[in-house]
Amino acid sequence: MKRVELAVFDLDNTLYDWYASFLPAFYAMVDVATSILKCDRDALLDELRSVHVKHHDVEHPFSLLETKTVQEFVSQERSSQALQVLDPAFHAFNKTRKENLALFPDVRTTLDELRTRDITLIAFTDSSYFATLHRIRQLGLANVFQHIFCRAKSKNDSPFPVRPPPEDNLIHITTELPADETKPDPRVLFEIARVENKITSSIAYIGDSISRDVLMAKKADCFAIWAKYGVHKDSTMYEKLVRISHWTTEDIQREKNYVAEAEKIKPDFVCERSIGEILTVLDGPTGTLTRRQQRTS
Ligand SMILES: [Mg+2]
Repeated sequence: MKRVELAVFDLDNTLYDWYASFLPAFYAMVDVATSILKCDRDALLDELRSVHVKHHDVEHPFSLLETKTVQEFVSQERSSQALQVLDPAFHAFNKTRKENLALFPDVRTTLDELRTRDITLIAFTDSSYFATLHRIRQLGLANVFQHIFCRAKSKNDSPFPVRPPPEDNLIHITTELPADETKPDPRVLFEIARVENKITSSIAYIGDSISRDVLMAKKADCFAIWAKYGVHKDSTMYEKLVRISHWTTEDIQREKNYVAEAEKIKPDFVCERSIGEILTVLDGPTGTLTRRQQRTS
């Protein structure tokens, strides 16, 4: 057993299937918007991609409102009510996302058990602020993590009024990271260790991407766990992501370089089928599990 004080979790495709929750919702919104606006669907997708590139975020909130088609529609209508016409499109997005967002099997029981073993849980994602906090709340994980690290929200104001956040602790425990501090840059793991007053060798890191999560964890000398069960394999869904993604040519080349670099490293442990497998390898800082077993035997 590896004794650790902290466990840092990637979120997307480590705790839930991000592709299954976001992409069908996005395309449901596009389909409804296309019929409301009576526009060409492919042209609208091109415009959405441009908005995502501009903000460098495929989950930029209300990107639909920043498209040329919608901007022209709003100016033609000359009415403050014009945007309300698009409500059914946003409703389709929210409904589909809610239906499809679910934790992978064993996630909740595994996180609870790790806490029982006196292991502090931290979340670290490259997703941006609003998307991250929304998913954590929706999945009932608001009280699970001691600290959340995510990408900073866009400096551009949302064109929609931002609703007041629910009354939980999340905004107080969330740190927004600068855009250049993305995985596999190990700086954030060093920062997490500093803030929590730990050394990185006492930290386990769990994520689904070898070239981002595992590579970063190894660079920071953490115990690197690969969530192999979360690796996305649906090529149709991946093509849908590429169609609207914010990735530039430089982003794609950088990703290829990480993949090449990651070929030289190996995770310290692999979860093949379920996150629950980490319970066979992680124990608390003082051998909490061992002591519990001794008490009950
Ligand atoms: Mg991930």
